[in-house]
Amino acid sequence: MDQIKIGKFIAELRKERGLTQRELADLLAISDKTVSKWERGSGLPEVSLMLPLCKELGITVNELLSGKRLEAFEYQQNAEANIMKLINEKEETKRKIILAVIVVFITLLAGISLLLVSELAELPDDWRIALVVIALVVIFGGCGVAATLEMTSGAFECAKCGERFIPTAGAYIMGMHTITRRYLKCPKCGKKSWCIRRMSITPDE
Ligand SMILES: [Zn+2]
Repeated sequence: MDQIKIGKFIAELRKERGLTQRELADLLAISDKTVSKWERGSGLPEVSLMLPLCKELGITVNELLSGKRLEAFEYQQNAEANIMKLINEKEETKRKIILAVIVVFITLLAGISLLLVSELAELPDDWRIALVVIALVVIFGGCGVAATLEMTSGAFECAKCGERFIPTAGAYIMGMHTITRRYLKCPKCGKKSWCIRRMSITPDE
Protein backbone atom coordinates (compact mmCIF):
# COMPACT_ATOMS: atom_id res chain seq x y z
CA MET A 1 0.00 0.00 0.00
CA ASP A 2 1.34 3.42 -0.90
CA GLN A 3 0.25 5.33 2.20
CA ILE A 4 1.62 8.67 0.96
CA LYS A 5 -0.38 8.41 -2.26
CA ILE A 6 -3.53 7.34 -0.39
CA GLY A 7 -3.05 10.23 2.06
CA LYS A 8 -2.76 12.79 -0.73
CA PHE A 9 -5.83 11.32 -2.40
CA ILE A 10 -7.88 11.62 0.83
CA ALA A 11 -6.76 15.26 1.26
CA GLU A 12 -7.59 16.06 -2.37
CA LEU A 13 -11.11 14.59 -2.16
CA ARG A 14 -11.76 16.22 1.20
CA LYS A 15 -10.85 19.64 -0.23
CA GLU A 16 -12.95 19.01 -3.34
CA ARG A 17 -15.89 18.58 -1.00
CA GLY A 18 -15.02 21.78 0.85
CA LEU A 19 -14.47 20.00 4.16
CA THR A 20 -11.83 20.80 6.79
CA GLN A 21 -10.00 17.90 8.48
CA ARG A 22 -12.13 18.66 11.54
CA GLU A 23 -15.41 18.50 9.60
CA LEU A 24 -14.49 15.19 7.97
CA ALA A 25 -13.44 13.84 11.38
CA ASP A 26 -16.79 14.89 12.89
CA LEU A 27 -18.70 13.11 10.12
CA LEU A 28 -16.83 9.92 10.99
CA ALA A 29 -16.95 10.49 14.78
CA ILE A 30 -13.17 10.36 15.09
CA SER A 31 -10.50 12.91 16.03
CA ASP A 32 -9.06 15.36 13.49
CA LYS A 33 -5.60 14.06 14.47
CA THR A 34 -6.53 10.74 12.87
CA VAL A 35 -7.53 12.44 9.60
CA SER A 36 -4.29 14.45 9.66
CA LYS A 37 -2.33 11.21 10.21
CA TRP A 38 -3.95 9.54 7.17
CA GLU A 39 -3.31 12.58 4.98
CA ARG A 40 0.37 12.72 6.00
CA GLY A 41 0.63 9.09 4.93
CA SER A 42 1.58 7.82 8.38
CA GLY A 43 -1.33 5.42 8.73
CA LEU A 44 -4.20 3.84 6.84
CA PRO A 45 -7.78 4.07 8.05
CA GLU A 46 -8.86 1.10 10.14
CA VAL A 47 -10.87 -1.42 8.16
CA SER A 48 -14.03 -0.49 10.13
CA LEU A 49 -13.66 3.16 9.02
CA MET A 50 -12.92 2.49 5.36
CA LEU A 51 -16.54 2.20 4.19
CA PRO A 52 -17.85 5.30 6.04
CA LEU A 53 -14.82 7.31 4.86
CA CYS A 54 -15.31 6.24 1.25
CA LYS A 55 -19.00 7.12 1.48
CA GLU A 56 -18.14 10.66 2.64
CA LEU A 57 -15.51 11.05 -0.10
CA GLY A 58 -17.68 9.51 -2.83
CA ILE A 59 -15.25 6.74 -3.79
CA THR A 60 -15.00 2.97 -3.36
CA VAL A 61 -12.65 1.16 -0.96
CA ASN A 62 -10.81 -0.15 -4.00
CA GLU A 63 -10.17 3.41 -5.17
CA LEU A 64 -9.11 4.47 -1.66
CA LEU A 65 -6.53 1.66 -1.47
CA SER A 66 -5.32 2.43 -5.00
CA GLY A 67 -4.93 6.12 -4.11
CA LYS A 68 -6.74 7.23 -7.27
CA ARG A 69 -10.03 7.08 -9.14
CA LEU A 70 -10.26 3.93 -11.23
CA GLU A 71 -11.59 3.40 -14.74
CA ALA A 72 -13.90 0.42 -15.16
CA PHE A 73 -11.23 -1.66 -16.91
CA GLU A 74 -8.72 -1.10 -14.09
CA TYR A 75 -11.22 -1.95 -11.43
CA GLN A 76 -11.08 -5.73 -11.21
CA GLN A 77 -7.32 -5.81 -11.56
CA ASN A 78 -6.76 -3.33 -8.73
CA ALA A 79 -9.33 -4.97 -6.46
CA GLU A 80 -7.49 -8.26 -6.48
CA ALA A 81 -4.05 -6.69 -6.11
CA ASN A 82 -5.23 -4.61 -3.15
CA ILE A 83 -6.75 -7.57 -1.32
CA MET A 84 -3.58 -9.60 -1.84
CA LYS A 85 -1.41 -6.78 -0.50
CA LEU A 86 -3.48 -6.51 2.69
CA ILE A 87 -3.20 -10.27 3.25
CA ASN A 88 0.45 -10.68 2.23
CA GLU A 89 1.81 -8.09 4.62
CA LYS A 90 0.63 -10.13 7.60
CA GLU A 91 1.57 -13.50 6.13
CA GLU A 92 5.10 -12.30 5.52
CA THR A 93 5.43 -11.10 9.11
CA LYS A 94 4.35 -14.50 10.41
CA ARG A 95 6.78 -16.30 8.10
CA LYS A 96 9.70 -14.12 9.19
CA ILE A 97 9.00 -14.66 12.89
CA ILE A 98 8.75 -18.43 12.43
CA LEU A 99 11.98 -18.40 10.42
CA ALA A 100 13.70 -16.38 13.18
CA VAL A 101 12.70 -18.99 15.78
CA ILE A 102 13.99 -21.82 13.56
CA VAL A 103 17.31 -20.01 12.94
CA VAL A 104 17.85 -19.49 16.69
CA PHE A 105 17.01 -23.11 17.42
CA ILE A 106 19.35 -24.52 14.77
CA THR A 107 22.28 -22.23 15.60
CA LEU A 108 21.96 -22.88 19.34
CA LEU A 109 21.85 -26.60 18.69
CA ALA A 110 24.90 -26.46 16.39
CA GLY A 111 26.79 -24.11 18.71
CA ILE A 112 26.13 -26.19 21.83
CA SER A 113 27.10 -29.40 19.99
CA LEU A 114 30.42 -27.83 19.00
CA LEU A 115 31.04 -26.67 22.58
CA LEU A 116 30.28 -30.18 23.89
CA VAL A 117 32.63 -31.77 21.37
CA SER A 118 35.37 -29.31 22.32
CA GLU A 119 34.92 -30.21 26.00
CA LEU A 120 34.45 -33.94 25.75
CA ALA A 121 36.56 -35.11 22.82
CA GLU A 122 40.26 -35.87 23.13
CA LEU A 123 41.62 -32.96 21.11
CA PRO A 124 44.79 -30.90 20.96
CA ASP A 125 44.39 -27.51 22.69
CA ASP A 126 44.49 -25.42 19.53
CA TRP A 127 41.66 -27.53 18.00
CA ARG A 128 39.67 -27.11 21.17
CA ILE A 129 40.08 -23.31 21.05
CA ALA A 130 39.20 -23.25 17.34
CA LEU A 131 35.98 -25.20 18.02
CA VAL A 132 34.96 -22.84 20.83
CA VAL A 133 35.56 -19.83 18.54
CA ILE A 134 33.53 -21.42 15.73
CA ALA A 135 30.73 -22.28 18.17
CA LEU A 136 30.56 -18.67 19.41
CA VAL A 137 30.58 -17.30 15.85
CA VAL A 138 27.72 -19.66 14.90
CA ILE A 139 25.66 -18.71 17.97
CA PHE A 140 26.17 -14.93 17.63
CA GLY A 141 25.75 -15.05 13.84
CA GLY A 142 22.50 -16.98 14.13
CA CYS A 143 21.14 -14.64 16.80
CA GLY A 144 22.08 -11.67 14.61
CA VAL A 145 20.24 -13.10 11.61
CA ALA A 146 17.22 -13.90 13.78
CA ALA A 147 17.21 -10.41 15.32
CA THR A 148 17.33 -8.84 11.84
CA LEU A 149 14.42 -10.98 10.68
CA GLU A 150 12.42 -10.15 13.77
CA MET A 151 13.23 -6.44 13.58
CA THR A 152 12.06 -6.12 9.99
CA SER A 153 8.80 -7.99 10.53
CA GLY A 154 5.69 -6.03 11.40
CA ALA A 155 5.98 -2.91 13.52
CA PHE A 156 5.82 -1.69 17.11
CA GLU A 157 2.97 0.37 18.52
CA CYS A 158 3.65 3.20 20.98
CA ALA A 159 1.77 2.60 24.25
CA LYS A 160 1.33 6.38 24.72
CA CYS A 161 0.03 7.63 21.36
CA GLY A 162 -0.68 4.49 19.31
CA GLU A 163 1.79 5.39 16.55
CA ARG A 164 3.18 2.36 14.70
CA PHE A 165 6.81 2.40 13.65
CA ILE A 166 9.80 0.24 12.76
CA PRO A 167 12.60 0.86 15.27
CA THR A 168 16.19 1.60 14.25
CA ALA A 169 18.63 -1.31 14.56
CA GLY A 170 20.44 0.38 17.46
CA ALA A 171 17.30 1.08 19.44
CA TYR A 172 16.00 -2.40 18.72
CA ILE A 173 19.12 -4.23 19.90
CA MET A 174 19.64 -2.07 23.00
CA GLY A 175 15.98 -2.03 24.07
CA MET A 176 14.77 -4.21 26.93
CA HIS A 177 12.13 -6.63 25.76
CA THR A 178 9.72 -9.44 26.49
CA ILE A 179 8.33 -11.80 23.85
CA THR A 180 5.64 -9.39 22.62
CA ARG A 181 6.84 -6.00 23.88
CA ARG A 182 9.94 -3.90 23.60
CA TYR A 183 10.96 -0.75 25.47
CA LEU A 184 11.39 1.83 22.69
CA LYS A 185 11.25 5.57 22.09
CA CYS A 186 8.33 6.63 19.87
CA PRO A 187 9.42 8.70 16.83
CA LYS A 188 6.14 10.66 16.93
CA CYS A 189 5.52 11.66 20.55
CA GLY A 190 9.13 11.09 21.70
CA LYS A 191 8.05 9.18 24.83
CA LYS A 192 9.55 5.86 25.88
CA SER A 193 7.12 3.04 26.52
CA TRP A 194 6.64 -0.72 26.36
CA CYS A 195 5.65 -0.90 22.70
CA ILE A 196 3.61 -3.89 21.60
CA ARG A 197 4.48 -5.85 18.48
CA ARG A 198 1.95 -5.66 15.65
CA MET A 199 1.84 -7.85 12.57
CA SER A 200 1.50 -4.87 10.27
CA ILE A 201 2.46 -1.19 10.29
CA THR A 202 -1.11 -0.46 9.17
CA PRO A 203 -3.50 -0.18 12.15
CA ASP A 204 -6.28 -2.51 11.03
CA GLU A 205 -6.33 -5.16 13.78
ZN1 LIG B 1 4.07 7.80 20.75
